[in-house]
Amino acid sequence: MPLVIGIDIGGTSARIGLVDTATAAILAREVVPTGYDSRAETLMPAFRAAVSRVAAEGAAVALGVGMPGLQDSAGRVTEASNLPGLCGVAIDRELARDFGWPSCMENDLNALAFGESRYGNYGVTRLLVVALGTGIGAAAVANGELLRPAGGSLGDPGHIVVDAHGATCRCGARGCLETKVSGWSIGERGGIEKPEVAADAAMWLGMGLATFCVLYEPQAVVLGGKVCAAGGQPFLADVAGQLKSFCQPRFRSVPLYLSRLGDDAGILGAAALAARKWTSADTCPT
Ligand SMILES: [Zn+2]
Repeated sequence: MPLVIGIDIGGTSARIGLVDTATAAILAREVVPTGYDSRAETLMPAFRAAVSRVAAEGAAVALGVGMPGLQDSAGRVTEASNLPGLCGVAIDRELARDFGWPSCMENDLNALAFGESRYGNYGVTRLLVVALGTGIGAAAVANGELLRPAGGSLGDPGHIVVDAHGATCRCGARGCLETKVSGWSIGERGGIEKPEVAADAAMWLGMGLATFCVLYEPQAVVLGGKVCAAGGQPFLADVAGQLKSFCQPRFRSVPLYLSRLGDDAGILGAAALAARKWTSADTCPT
């Protein structure tokens, strides 16, 4: 049972856990607040202290980080749009160095999807994970490997254009899926709790998923993120119905699930990626 430190860094907080990668049990955990104005000089010592505390609970052998954005060939963060203070920092290597662990860092959505695939028991070998938070993120795992058609990631499918008469998106394009269904666009209309807003969001998300299906050919789709969690099973059922109404017949049987790992998916995925890379005891079953 290799114990690995998993770290899920987000725009408002970083979750740090000591993970038994054989069972997905999180044996100790810490949360460190983050923010757009956070500086590396403040965050890195706070991360280091939190890692020390969870590491005191068991003999960890590696460290994995999930972090928004991409990284360069030297492992330094690039394009961390919601945490610019961490740009240029090789987060995993700096945190692991003090402890003598090997480490790895992965895009946060990739880590989340890997966690869902590894521990979510969805029973498929091609899994698409769509996270509906402030924006729309997506990542996919096929046969135990992350799909990386756009360099390091699945790309940015929240910005597929779905409405010729749509509004200008925050990304600068017009009529993007995110202008119809995202935390910010739903929030502008009163929130997912309003039935007519939820119905409209489900229609657009179902349409978007129909496109994602022809692009990625998933055998199952997992919906995560705070908007889907707030919408719950009724929203999930609406989205599933809309997907069936839009998609090619061959995708009508693709099941939709709410995330089974919830907020822990990122920690578990980051730890699982490090375990797979650096320990021989953990192998991915799919
Ligand atoms: Zn856009």
